[in-house]
Amino acid sequence: MDILNEVQSLLNQRDPDQPEFHQAVKEVVESVTPVLERHPELRKARVIERIIEPERVIQFRVPWVNDRGDIQVNRGFRIEMNSALGPYKGGLRFHPSVNLSILKFLAFEQIFKNSLTTLPIGGGKGGSDFNPKGKSDNEVMKFCQSFMMELFRHIGPNTDIPAGDIGVGGREIGYMFGMYKKLKNEFTGILTGKGLNWGGSLIRPEATGYGAVYMAANMLKTRNETLDGKTCLVSGSGNVAQYTCEKLLDLGAKPVTVSDSSGYIYDEKGIDREKLAFIMHLKNVKRGRIKEYAEKYSSAVFTPNDSSSDHNPIWNHKAKAAFPSATQNEINGKDSQNLISNGVYVISEGANMPSTPDAVNAFVENKLLYGPGKAANAGGVAVSALEMSQNSLRMGWTREEVDNRLQIIMKSIHDNSASAAKEYGMEGNYVAGANIAGFMKVVNAMMDHGVV
Ligand code: NDP
Repeated sequence: MDILNEVQSLLNQRDPDQPEFHQAVKEVVESVTPVLERHPELRKARVIERIIEPERVIQFRVPWVNDRGDIQVNRGFRIEMNSALGPYKGGLRFHPSVNLSILKFLAFEQIFKNSLTTLPIGGGKGGSDFNPKGKSDNEVMKFCQSFMMELFRHIGPNTDIPAGDIGVGGREIGYMFGMYKKLKNEFTGILTGKGLNWGGSLIRPEATGYGAVYMAANMLKTRNETLDGKTCLVSGSGNVAQYTCEKLLDLGAKPVTVSDSSGYIYDEKGIDREKLAFIMHLKNVKRGRIKEYAEKYSSAVFTPNDSSSDHNPIWNHKAKAAFPSATQNEINGKDSQNLISNGVYVISEGANMPSTPDAVNAFVENKLLYGPGKAANAGGVAVSALEMSQNSLRMGWTREEVDNRLQIIMKSIHDNSASAAKEYGMEGNYVAGANIAGFMKVVNAMMDHGVV
């Protein structure tokens, strides 16, 4: 039996109900099969069987009281996936869809992403099925405090340092940090994405979006092109989408779409700085719906989501580049064909695993400049690690300094992925390259540490 079949039967037997986790594992194992064939000692050491098994899974009850006095019970998780390169590091996601399969896929991806950053961080992920939408500030605070009342005993500045993800931004990090500090009586850099005046890093909010755009720029450079003047499709309208649009504008590109879970807007005139400021206020302060953009700007059309459709119309507009920045599996096979036939040839994934396997295959076969999430969105965790360094040094770097480091890291992620792909005869395939480069560093450390 070949390696992939062996791993798949192991997953089917142990975790049959975790499709997203299977999808993430399959992609990595496919990519690293040539490495395992070249290095039988890794196979003998059963590194794949070890790397797909979390070092620790923590699941806990999160009880809290809503504004009406009713008791609510959510489920909290932390997946401590791999600590070969450093303490566990990865975000917390608060979304009703959160379950073990989704968090294990994210934690697994995080191992290789963190390895690619070249910084000393292991992989982890966590979150809750709590839905922050429609909740008052007080309810969000109550929930975050209850969540941290259990999580605090499992994390620590040298053990596990969570950050934000979907549904977890500056507000939630603040409430969780406050409770951690109270419980431990310690002011330590236990979370990243903190507020600037209490240990946060400049550029951390911007880092994932900026990084995804830097990845696109690096890929374009291999063809002596830039983003200047290129029309771009962006999905999502949260943290990653907002700063993707901002950096695209800095580099002279023209974003024309953004979305949320209710639908998307297409603005043929482009989302300029004033319109972006409107989106930021709408989403970060008013916490409103993206439809309101089309009510304010007549050049925009809002299209509601249609879950019965076989494709997502946001990916069916003329453009050169696409930046999926909402959620997993938001680009399916049909969408990938629509993107290609509309002229898109650069895809840089701000979101984690936004493309289904069919879509990934189409991008790779058609030789698009395709930067997979674990490379393209690694800027966020990279600046989180820089935030940890600044906390340890008890100092703060300037905006320019952090942005410079981010650009250097994104270039090395690009170059390391490109050269790993080339070394294994798959030039231009950033999926294989990112998986191989990330994998090698982690498994070499695992080999050094023995069977633990
Ligand atoms: P936010 O919560 O700030 O924004 C998420 C955006 O995506 C919102 O517009 C949301 O719409 C939309 N969205 C979420 N779930 C769905 C869904 N099921 N269907 C349609 N739209 C959806 O999250 P982030 O911007 O932080 O994260 C976006 C992506 O980027 C995620 O895949 C995340 O894992 C990834 N990422 C984030 C990093 C970070 O630093 N924040 C780092 C690396 C990756 P609505 O408001 O309606 O829910």
